[in-house]
Amino acid sequence: MTGPTIDLNGKTALVTGASRGIGLSIAQVLARSGADVIGLGTSITAQALEGAFAGLPGVFRPMDCDLSERDQIKALLAQLDDAGAEIDILVNNAGIIRRNHAAEHSLEDWDAVMAVNLDAVFLLSRALGARMLERGGGKIVNIASVLSFQGGVLVPGYAAAKGAIAQLTRALANEWAQGGVNVNAVAPGYVATDNTAALQADEDRSAALMARIPVGRWGRPEEIAWPVAFLASELADFIHGTVLPVDGGWLSR
Ligand code: NAP
Repeated sequence: MTGPTIDLNGKTALVTGASRGIGLSIAQVLARSGADVIGLGTSITAQALEGAFAGLPGVFRPMDCDLSERDQIKALLAQLDDAGAEIDILVNNAGIIRRNHAAEHSLEDWDAVMAVNLDAVFLLSRALGARMLERGGGKIVNIASVLSFQGGVLVPGYAAAKGAIAQLTRALANEWAQGGVNVNAVAPGYVATDNTAALQADEDRSAALMARIPVGRWGRPEEIAWPVAFLASELADFIHGTVLPVDGGWLSR
């Protein structure tokens, strides 16, 4: 992996949704920058990711946790406490999307999206942010979306949750900046991952999207991961409550 150098030596990061896509790339970039990384997923195994972290200075440890289940989040936090794990960097990346017309968007889909994309972010940030405040500092980076700024099409639950992530980022930053905890968000544009597989496969829709993006192509996961690593580093100590679009120019169009 090539790229710039960011120093996260001695830090421990927790990255949610680290089994694939943007989250895996974030975990790799943080480990490459020297951080030890605990990566969460519902089906994450060291075996499947063998090789992905080979030769990187940071140690990667996968942990299973279904973030749609509040009991599992509670158990995870207890497990981290028991292990004496101090989290310096929290990256709330895990996210799901459910596409449907608003009039047909089921409450079940709404609840599922809110549970993973919003509730889990609040629960993890509240618990780990409190520990960061006790210890005098830390970094929280939330993964928002261009749909934190726009309503999107056929994704009312997702857009509502991502809009709320932008507001939660600002609300936490306002309270925690003086305690040395930086809370910021990165808002990706269209990135080629499983999450956007249906869009990528739809030739007409994909072509229309690319025509609207100034840079004219899908983003790569590592193009989201490096800005996250920057916000997780001391280079960003004076940045609080920012929702940074990383979108190939989409929002400026
Ligand atoms: P992805 O490829 O679909 O990966 C989603 C990740 O989230 C997986 O690691 C998955 O882990 C994890 N996850 C899903 N449900 C979970 C649950 N209940 N508990 C724990 N982990 C769960 O998605 P992505 O495209 O990389 O997206 C990552 C983030 O970027 C999301 O927040 C997404 O909304 C945001 N984003 C993506 C794009 C894009 O164009 N791709 C654009 C804007 C924003 P398991 O597989 O182990 O369950």
